[in-house]
Amino acid sequence: MEKFRHLSDNKEREIPMEKLEKPEIKEIGSVLEKAGFEAYLVGGCVRDLSRGQEPKDWDITTNAKPEEIQKLFPDSVYENQFGTVGVKIRRETTEIVEVTPYRLEGKYSDKRHPDEIKFAKTLEEDLARRDFTVNAMALRLTIDLKQKTKNLVDPFGGQEDLKNKILRAVGNPEERFQEDALRLMRAVRFMAQLGFKIEEKTEAAIKTHAGLLEFISKERVRDEFSKLLLAENAADGIRKMQELGLLKIVLPELEEGVGVGQNKHHIYTVFEHNVRALEYAAKQNYDLTVRIASLLHDVGKPATKYGEGPDSTFYGHQVVGEKMVLKILDRLRFPKEMTEKVALLVREHMFVYDPETVTDAGARRLVRRVGKENLEDLFRLREADRIGSGVPKAQPYRLRHLKFRIEKVMNDPISAKMLKVNGEDVMREAGIPASPKVGAILAVLLEEVLDDPALNIKEILVARIKSLAQMEDKKLGEMSKFARQSADQAQTRIEEEIKKKYFVK
Ligand code: ATP
Ligand code: MG
Repeated sequence: MEKFRHLSDNKEREIPMEKLEKPEIKEIGSVLEKAGFEAYLVGGCVRDLSRGQEPKDWDITTNAKPEEIQKLFPDSVYENQFGTVGVKIRRETTEIVEVTPYRLEGKYSDKRHPDEIKFAKTLEEDLARRDFTVNAMALRLTIDLKQKTKNLVDPFGGQEDLKNKILRAVGNPEERFQEDALRLMRAVRFMAQLGFKIEEKTEAAIKTHAGLLEFISKERVRDEFSKLLLAENAADGIRKMQELGLLKIVLPELEEGVGVGQNKHHIYTVFEHNVRALEYAAKQNYDLTVRIASLLHDVGKPATKYGEGPDSTFYGHQVVGEKMVLKILDRLRFPKEMTEKVALLVREHMFVYDPETVTDAGARRLVRRVGKENLEDLFRLREADRIGSGVPKAQPYRLRHLKFRIEKVMNDPISAKMLKVNGEDVMREAGIPASPKVGAILAVLLEEVLDDPALNIKEILVARIKSLAQMEDKKLGEMSKFARQSADQAQTRIEEEIKKKYFVK
């Protein structure tokens, strides 16, 4: 208690108290204090309040023990192994404020989780276990909001660092990163979120201990990495990860593009181009999926580079990239659905949109391959790619033209379901039982209708079913295989032609 008093005797600080007009939160504080405990807002919310921003969530710390907290708030839930109690803000809501007893830094034998949870006696001890000075401040909850008070507890100079936009480890940075290597990622994440500089010694320690990130669970890394990508300065964060040796642990595939030059259509290396695509996606406030797709869209380039200098090529990089994305995002434990969508966007990001080349059939195939629901994101990715190249060609008209075309063909058949005949019709008209042959006939019909939607008339299709059914199984099998592949092949063919036209002298 003594120790704590001298801390709160720090000189007065100004905090935008009006942001603290959250009666429900203050109520939790006064319940704790009336019961004889201390209660402080702590961590991220104090940092955000000090910057004049609305905190995302409110964390309270107290010298009450978990059971004591629970007794005071019967509606609460005991949340985790850290002694945190989730207290409902109001009876009727699900919104929860985390109330955590003062804790000590645990010993981390495995560099991942503290071996045991030890409670601390004082607020100062609790603040000392926190990662960065700007995250190691506390604000007493029951202050009179009309006053500027002495209730901010800031033993490590967090306010000063906030003012100077500096991210600095609390205590000895070397030790702090060794205790919990996730802090390596957190440093870069906060840098990117807050637009701060990492203090010199802190940065040097990150560089020294970057390798420890290997010990951290993929899920924790994923969460920090996602927050970094969603930050305003995500691109700077990725550059910093690269500089400090964190990127080669989290995303070595992206690191491969460092120093890999491109051809005359680009002024940046593969790495810088990927990062700049992300930079644009962040500037546009695109979602996590589009941001990751932007960052990874050319990840297949180093492996497919052919030749050197202005005429070097990267044929097939989008297909190689798709496979790499599936591996990368699976390894990083991103949800399957998101992984597959990013892979799809990367695979399709080279779509052709030259109005002279794209036919209605081509536009239909694009819609079929990508899916209507993903088109908008694919366009976003392409835009990020274009701007991120540093030499954006004036393309908006072409893209608009493709969008127009897609809209026009949107109601044309793009999946077997939209054919005017179905499997039943095929079986009846061809006089065959359910078999792979039915699927083969449908595939051929669909391909033909994609080329010419005017054929999607029941009578015409029935006639065609009859003639297809006469065919030898082998021949029909080949035709359907070709039909199934032809969408992709047509796309590749057109691409190669265009490349020949513009690429080679
Ligand atoms: P956000 O706005 O992203 O929630 P935050 O600062 O609240 O930012 P949290 O991850 O929610 O970050 O953590 C809350 C607080 O707990 C931090 O401000 C910091 O004081 C402390 N903290 C969290 N993780 C660590 C860690 N790995 N090592 C030390 N302190 C940590
Ligand atoms: Mg938080």
